[in-house]
Amino acid sequence: MKDPVCGSEVSEKSESITYNNKEYRFCCASCKWAFEKNPKQFVGEEK
Ligand SMILES: [Zn+2]
Repeated sequence: MKDPVCGSEVSEKSESITYNNKEYRFCCASCKWAFEKNPKQFVGEEK
């Protein structure tokens, strides 16, 4: 699994959040924070 913010490989113990029924994991709190602030920037919009 990859951190959608910085692209690092992340483990199952990493911080995670659920967005649009998908789980995303982050290498660190600052990546998680950046994602929460503007998730569309990282996941892309479904059209
Ligand atoms: Zn990261």
